[in-house]
Amino acid sequence: MDQLRFDGRVAVVTGAGGGLGKAYALLLGSRGAKVVVNDLGGGKDGAGKSTFADAVVKEIKDKGGIAVADYNNVIEGEKIIKTALDNFGRVDILINNAGILRDRSFQKMSDQDWDLIQAVHLKGSFKPTLAAWETFKKQNFGRVIMTSSNAGLVGNFGQANYSTAKMGLVGFMNTLALEGAKYNIKINTIVPTAASRLTEGILPPDMFEAMKPELIAPVVAYMAHESFEGTGQIIDSTLGYAHKAQLVRSVGSPLRNTPSDPVTIESVKEKWPKVVDMTNAKHVSPIANVTINLVERLQEFEDRA
Ligand code: NAD
Repeated sequence: MDQLRFDGRVAVVTGAGGGLGKAYALLLGSRGAKVVVNDLGGGKDGAGKSTFADAVVKEIKDKGGIAVADYNNVIEGEKIIKTALDNFGRVDILINNAGILRDRSFQKMSDQDWDLIQAVHLKGSFKPTLAAWETFKKQNFGRVIMTSSNAGLVGNFGQANYSTAKMGLVGFMNTLALEGAKYNIKINTIVPTAASRLTEGILPPDMFEAMKPELIAPVVAYMAHESFEGTGQIIDSTLGYAHKAQLVRSVGSPLRNTPSDPVTIESVKEKWPKVVDMTNAKHVSPIANVTINLVERLQEFEDRA
């Protein structure tokens, strides 16, 4: 297969000073993209700041690539996009990767633990995406990657704040995939599991060693490539595997026997096993199909009335 290249493309990778973002930036830089290496350079709880994005820029340049550092907070994402436009005149790819943790058991969670996590993950993805959107529309091209987590898709102890934000990004992607479709803006979501400072001490050491971010970077880079047609996809990847994840809906059940019957708490209880029976469950998309499904239900009841 011909090498998939990114020549002429400008990629912004947020939180690219270390971990997964660094692996994405290095790979894109090695394949011809001009890269904005954004990183605030704080601790894993979001405190402090530094210029450790510089080392990644140096590494890209040392290998013959083109990159510039950006130290802005993702919450001010418009500044990061400005760095791309000022330095390279365009922006084609945005990888919303920056993230922090403020893990606490739920009862101990403070407003600050909650707000900071929502701000960095949700607003920190909203602001750069919004700032790039106009350019994406004008050039009829854009590739955006959101970063979710299994903590969001299935939950995790001590991460109520983080799980909420990470699942929120899936909803964000779902709507942007609809709004971006006619402008060739593809929005997809990576659910990574990798060795980084966020997982150090959580993953067992031998597993930690094997879970290299470099095994996930090609998945993200492929989803950022111009040849990638998918949109609204959730891709879970680790250890050189990738899976697609989806929300599915059961076939369901009427909650009454005829349209003139009332729906009662008791009738709901009676029908519940069928409501939650996931045999033949299906992913419902796009939104038009949700409406079609409603109309079908209405028709069924009219036929039975
Ligand atoms: P990491 O800590 O190595 O990388 C995150 C980077 O984001 C850091 O370099 C940090 O300085 C930067 N950052 C944090 N807040 C920022 C802000 N406000 N503005 C700009 N930069 C900021 O961790 P990682 O594991 O590489 O995480 C990358 C992303 O992947 C995060 O969104 C994380 O939640 C997500 N994630 C990681 C895993 C995993 O297994 N490592 C699992 C699920 C999700």
